[in-house]
This record gives sequence, structure tokens and C-alpha cells, in this order.
Amino acid sequence: MKENVKIYDNILETIGNTPMVRLNKIAEDIPGTVLAKVEYFNPGHSVKDRMALKMIEDAEARGELKPGGTIIECTSGNTGMGLALAAVVKGYKLICTMSDKQSKEKMDILRAMGAEIYVCPTNVAPEHPESYYSVATRLASEIPNSFYPYQYDNLSNREAHYESTGPEIWDQTDGKITHFVVGVGTGGTISGVAKYLKEQNPNVKIWGVDSYGSVFKKYHETGEFDEKEIYSYITEGIGEDILPKNVDFDLIDHFEKVTDRDGALTTRELAKKEGLLLGWSAGSAFQAIRQMKHELDENSVVVVLFHDHGSRYVGKIFNDDWMEERGFLNHKNKMAKDLVDK
Ligand code: PMP
Repeated sequence: MKENVKIYDNILETIGNTPMVRLNKIAEDIPGTVLAKVEYFNPGHSVKDRMALKMIEDAEARGELKPGGTIIECTSGNTGMGLALAAVVKGYKLICTMSDKQSKEKMDILRAMGAEIYVCPTNVAPEHPESYYSVATRLASEIPNSFYPYQYDNLSNREAHYESTGPEIWDQTDGKITHFVVGVGTGGTISGVAKYLKEQNPNVKIWGVDSYGSVFKKYHETGEFDEKEIYSYITEGIGEDILPKNVDFDLIDHFEKVTDRDGALTTRELAKKEGLLLGWSAGSAFQAIRQMKHELDENSVVVVLFHDHGSRYVGKIFNDDWMEERGFLNHKNKMAKDLVDK
């Protein structure tokens, strides 16, 4: 983890110890204090650097990943970037399977870091042979000396956040945090941070941000895996059509669903009002706080974790034509009027 040293031996040592930034204008009508853990300060520009490195180090320690090996992973892009950093520094090959809804920027960035990419259709069931899960499984069985981390069920994922992200948040708020809000995909971030925070103070509330088209909220509230909840949506990184082992539902107090449109518009607002150029799930997370603000009061200290940087979304939510085509924005060149349009 990043220490206050003058020279790091390699880029992996700069992972972690990201800043906590107060949200001002955008949070004016939210009771209490809202603080953002800005994870794009990691070298791969997302929180996922933390768990990618941990999955690799744990696999090395178990002898599952050997020198010259190939790492194969299904990823929405950010885990791939973290794995790419580790692969470059440690001398592994990397193959990523990605669903075709992920932004082109994410794929190009991974290729620039030396990864090989397999683009798979989004709208197929996880067990379909062309799904990004199945393609990764097949490649892992065919390629000798390969390691398939499988971030969904690999518990090194949530362990990374229990060891680093959770303690950082507790320390940066001097233990005053009352609510933690974050998007849920594999569940690693929320579960690892929640476990650490609830061990320090069981009263800290944990809110997971889900998308319409995902199974989490219904499963959390009813215990039922309802396939009717599954339909396509375009927010990247949050929501799932499976139940990953990394989601510890017992640690989560509430799931809040946010629409693609509200998440996208709020991400644009965060850039304009706070100077934070963030990824789409960050807007979803802040929008969830807005939807839940009746639960807060002047003593609330809310920490929202922003997963990644906005540069990966310039062709999408930061592009007016793209936004207009989807009906998210009513007029061209009205970025400043997002709030009015909303
Ligand atoms: N937001 C973004 C942009 C992501 O890439 C991810 C990872 N899928 C998440 C949120 C959710 O994080 P986690 O997998 O730790 O639940």
C-alpha cells in the first residue's frame, strides 16, 4: 500500500491510500456531511486495482499462479486494468473477456496495457457458451499454466477491501462515519468495507446501489432469485444477473435501485459542481443518496465510494449526442442544463 515515500519501486506500490473529498454544492440539500472516497486516484484509475493485486498475490502464495503464467478474467474493464498492471510488473500474460456493452475506451486501454480481449454478447444468459463467463471458463481449461481469478466468487476480492479500503475510510473519518454508500457488482467493495466498518461500529449503515435489471435488491428483501428482475440495462459496473459469493447480504442494510438515466445525469452534475470527472456508477451512487435522504439528519456522516474515472466514459455519458440518442438529454449542447432537463 502507498506510503509517504519519495520513490516507489514499481507502480503497484502506489495502489491505495486514496483521498477523501467533501462534496459541497451538489450535496447542499442532503442533511449532514457527504464525503467521497475518490478511487480514481489509484494507478489504474479505479478501486479495482486493490482487489486485482490481492487476487494475484493470494494465487501466487497458493501456488496457483506460476512464473510465465496466463491470467484469464471476465471483467467490465476495471478489474482488467488492475490485473494488467500486476501482469506487466510481474511478467504474466493477460486475457480478458468483456461484454459488448462495455465502453470502447475500456477495451482500448486494456489492449494498450498488453492484454488480449475477447468481446462477448451482453444479452445472453450466464450459462450460454458465448457469455463472457463461459468464454473465460473455456479459455482457462484450454490454456496451460493459466489462472482464472473469477472475481465474483474469489474471496480475495472482498478481503482486499477489508484490509485496505475499510480501514482507510474509518481512519479518514476518525470513526465518525454513519453511512457507507457504494455500487454493487461482484460485491467485493461493499462486503469487505462493510465487514471492517461494522466490526468497529455495528451501527454504521451500509447501502448498496443496484440497477434496474439486476437481481440484488429483490433477493436481499425476499430471499428469492427472481429471473423476472433480469433485463438489459446500460449502466456499467453495477448490478448482476447472478449472485456472486463476494456479496455478503447480511452486512448490507438496504439496496437502492437507480435508473440508467438518473445515474448518467448525476455523473455529469458531479463533474460540473464538484470538479470530479467520474464513471457512471459514481452518479448512480450519489443519486441513491438523494433518493434516500429522508433517512439522514444533520449528524449523518455519509461516505460514498466513487469507483472509477470519467475518461472511460467520454464517448458515452459525457457525449451529448449519445445521451440524446438514448433520450437522457433533451437538447444538444445543454450540458449546463442537465439539472433542468432532469
Ligand atoms: N462501479 C464500477 C465502475 C465497477 O467497475 C465496479 C466493478 N464491477 C463496481 C462499481 C462494483 O464494484 P464491486 O465489483 O466491488 O461490487
